[in-house]
Amino acid sequence: MRKLELHWQILIGMLLGIVFGFVMIQVDWGKGFVSDWIQPLGTIFVKLLKLIAIPLIIASLVKGISDLKDISKFRNIGIRTIGIYILTTVVAITIGLVLVNLLKPGDGISEATVAKLTEAYASSEGVTSKMNEAMSQKESGPLQFLVDMVPDNALAAMSNNGLMLQVIFFTIFLGISMLLIGEKRAKPLKDFFDSLNDVVLKMVDLIMLSAPYAVFALLASVVVSSSDPDLLLALLRYTGVVVGGLLLMIIFYTIVVSTFTKKNPFWFLKEISPAQLLAFSTSSSAATLPVTMERVEEHIGVDKEVSSFVLPVGATINMDGTSLYQGVAAVFISQALGFDLSFGDQLTIVLTALLASIGSAAVPGAGMVMLVIVLEAIGFPADKLAIGLALIFAVDRPLDMCRTVVNVTGDATVSMMVAKSVGKLGKPNIKEWDDHLDEVR
Ligand code: ASP
Repeated sequence: MRKLELHWQILIGMLLGIVFGFVMIQVDWGKGFVSDWIQPLGTIFVKLLKLIAIPLIIASLVKGISDLKDISKFRNIGIRTIGIYILTTVVAITIGLVLVNLLKPGDGISEATVAKLTEAYASSEGVTSKMNEAMSQKESGPLQFLVDMVPDNALAAMSNNGLMLQVIFFTIFLGISMLLIGEKRAKPLKDFFDSLNDVVLKMVDLIMLSAPYAVFALLASVVVSSSDPDLLLALLRYTGVVVGGLLLMIIFYTIVVSTFTKKNPFWFLKEISPAQLLAFSTSSSAATLPVTMERVEEHIGVDKEVSSFVLPVGATINMDGTSLYQGVAAVFISQALGFDLSFGDQLTIVLTALLASIGSAAVPGAGMVMLVIVLEAIGFPADKLAIGLALIFAVDRPLDMCRTVVNVTGDATVSMMVAKSVGKLGKPNIKEWDDHLDEVR
């Protein structure tokens, strides 16, 4: 029998996880059972993916840079990447703002619903912790992000997944210095990293074997810990606008892929789908990164010289889904609480959501922290901030899952565009997890 393709296996795991979660909510002991016995499996899987993220970034970025024959190429790739990332993010925020202004989901929210949501969430741990996090992020100067990018201890940076940009900085520095000392003298180090790179990619294959079971566990846990269905229903129009915007973004990517790279967009979506499904299940672009890199390099044919830089940088700074969501959420909250927004305010949202998406960490719920900063930038009354966040808190997790899919798809699209523009989009070179099994035997 032909083996079912990975994305189908993952999809089936997800569906069964959702069904299982719903069954478990019906019984008294269900919630406890899922959190004690099922959720840990999902958590282990996410930890395994995060475990290999840093070694993978280092090995593949060193390989990518040291394969370059001259450094000016790297500058070229860098400038294009940042430029295209900014453009796609602006497109995303604009789509979000146009939709939310046209459809006005906030106007349909009754005062009773506002009161109910405020009571349920305004002083909840979730909302207050997001506000505190936002406050501590805000207190820094304009160039702080540059300061934060430079590590003062390479090993300390490597030991913290939140410091991915520092690791990228160190690795680029290392790679360029390797180019400068010449091929012969850099060879031992290059061989080491080449081999490390192959090994880590094999680890991705092995971890992915458990993906269908892990997504089952992750989705069952999401279902049992989700909010009261009545509250979810009250926010249906808002959720619809965000999801509609995110779908438009996916359509935008397919158009970009077919016009700029002349590849079939459905083929692109099919090849990238395991990464998208994992992004949905884990709500974290950082945890999905190893799989995104593997799919883009092996299944789509983007050269490592491009993907090894574009994807890790994208996972940290390019969040189209998150910025679209921030635009919609900021306007929705203003509409619902009767806070008028001028055209200038909307422009401020474009700018701050762009910066916020660069500053958001690639982990679950990060987008909501940065939303506080967007709201403050448009002068939203500070005493109503907690109420504003309470309004959207109930649906944050499902929307986080959806926006993370867009974040990851955006990174993959841009890597194809950059690769095509520098002549580095080649043929796929698919490696299966059991490729070398016979040799080992
Ligand atoms: N969870 C998102 C990501 O990792 C960030 C966010 O929108 O909260 O890409």
